[in-house]
Amino acid sequence: MAAVSPPKYVKHILVSLLSRGYAAYLVGGCVRDIMLGVRPHDWDICTAALPEQIMEIFPGSRPTGMKHGTVTVVVGSRSAEVTTFRSEGSYADHRHPDIVRFVGDLTTDLGRRDFTMNAMAISADGLIADPFGGTDDIKARCIRCVGDPERRFDEDALRMFRAFRFSSRLGFDIEAGTLAAIKKRAPLAAGLAAERVRDETERIILSPRPETLCQVIELGLLDRYLNGNARLDPDTFHRISLLPKRAPERWSALCRLLLTSHAIASVKNFLTALRLDNRSIRCCCGAAELLACPCPASAFEWKRQLSRYGTDSVCCSARCRDALTGTKCYRALRAVLKSGECCSMNDLAVTGDDLMRLGLRGRELGEMLNFLLDYVMEYPGNNRRELLLSLASASEE
Ligand code: ATP
Ligand code: MG
Repeated sequence: MAAVSPPKYVKHILVSLLSRGYAAYLVGGCVRDIMLGVRPHDWDICTAALPEQIMEIFPGSRPTGMKHGTVTVVVGSRSAEVTTFRSEGSYADHRHPDIVRFVGDLTTDLGRRDFTMNAMAISADGLIADPFGGTDDIKARCIRCVGDPERRFDEDALRMFRAFRFSSRLGFDIEAGTLAAIKKRAPLAAGLAAERVRDETERIILSPRPETLCQVIELGLLDRYLNGNARLDPDTFHRISLLPKRAPERWSALCRLLLTSHAIASVKNFLTALRLDNRSIRCCCGAAELLACPCPASAFEWKRQLSRYGTDSVCCSARCRDALTGTKCYRALRAVLKSGECCSMNDLAVTGDDLMRLGLRGRELGEMLNFLLDYVMEYPGNNRRELLLSLASASEE
């Protein structure tokens, strides 16, 4: 076996299946990663054993997807997905097979997989099964469908996104026939669940090559979510990779670029349609508004932003500005955050209750709190309870 070898618990699963007479192999992404000399983040096993037989051999395993033949085998604190060799029937919805058949041989199972580099298996003694030329395609740094690409994308339109996911992660090219088929079948992407499209898009923008998304957009895979005819510049999109590998920052930068190229008119509508969570949507909307304004020029201005938009949005906007335009805004913001000076109601030395005791109510009370917050943001040394209370009562008189 290549330089990266599977952990003990994975070997244990393989050997247990083999010793009961069932063929068993490492398969899919982990084999591709081993070939690339990269440590796989999970280990998938395929076997001739039926799901019930796998459950019997490994008591305590979880029936993750019995209908599709998948059992999660638990060994101590670790687990691996073990799937019965299978073939798939037709795909009426261009995503899920209408019927799954368990089969006895490995090659049929490998034939249902998406790309040649993902359609290889390794036996416990290190022999590689590669009926579709995955090894050669990895050497050529090429992503190629197993079988006829148009048919494979007809079956499952998500594979078009997966091709770009792997291209952006590995820096591989998509083989000409596979790319031509994506061009033809791109309209099928409109039928995919928004959550799946969101996850694949996020993987691409978190990769070292976020500019891959320009091609995804040009081919029309995101048409359902974007205005047509946007002109996108891959060099600018590449700048997204300068951001930390965190989803909110990367989504904020993407939204900024889509807004400025008129591919979207509203960050909120775009991210809501893609089913991002509310916290991320709030963060990105705030960051988009801030990015449309000049960078704060003083600690006071930063604090005002922090008090109005919250730390998440302000940090995102500063980092995005730096990545997209080469400024050093985040450094200035960090100094303000490190100072520990008051920039939110929570840090104010008086509370709403204190002001109520002075007789303030409703709108007046809100306005006074805002006034005091602005005051201590400008004069941080004066965030003292007695002083603020006397200021509040003086302005009441
Ligand atoms: P990653 O490292 O991102 O997890 P992966 O190749 O392991 O990559 P998974 O989504 O975990 O990707 O899928 C595991 C394997 O299952 C793939 O390598 C591939 O063989 C097969 N597979 C997954 N999704 C599809 C699909 N939509 N169509 C065909 N085969 C698929
Ligand atoms: Mg995987």
